[in-house]
Amino acid sequence: MTKVLYPGSFDPITKGHMNIIEQASDLFDEVVVTVMQNPSKKEGMFTLEERMEIIKELYHRMNNIKVIAATGAAVDVAMLNECKAIIRGLRSLSDYDYEVQLQQINKEISNNKVNTVCLFADKEYQFVSSSMVKEVFKLDKDISNYVDPVVQNQMIKKRDEVYGRS
Ligand code: ADP
Repeated sequence: MTKVLYPGSFDPITKGHMNIIEQASDLFDEVVVTVMQNPSKKEGMFTLEERMEIIKELYHRMNNIKVIAATGAAVDVAMLNECKAIIRGLRSLSDYDYEVQLQQINKEISNNKVNTVCLFADKEYQFVSSSMVKEVFKLDKDISNYVDPVVQNQMIKKRDEVYGRS
């Protein structure tokens, strides 16, 4: 059985992320979507727990997609969960440079136990990012092309909580 880990901040999960998750679930026996706490990123829109709950809601009917939250290094989480590879989504050449270094470090840390597999989102989602979605949302523009309705509703709920219902 080939299990893979798909780590990210998912703040929030976008249709770009979902496209990668669905491709990975077609290719491998199990995908462990891992919501990571990134200490170098400032406090985001959703807490770690909230981000995980949103993804669980999206995939609760999918038997081979598991959702967990973790801190620390993705490669350690992969070894702990017996994942043979880390899935990364590639968007641009600038992503590539970073990913080449990361996969090498992860191979070294894991003694060649954890490989990296890069996937590409379908063209309509290739440039979608969580930060772009948050910016567009702040401007009160439609984000339905970039996130699932479940995510959009949670974003509206969060805005109402923060600014109070009008
Ligand atoms: P972001 O970089 O948007 O903050 P994450 O840290 O949550 O997102 O990203 C997790 C992984 O998903 C990374 O490998 C990232 O490159 C990939 N990814 C994010 N958005 C897309 C997309 N639209 N197409 C392909 N890969 C993506």
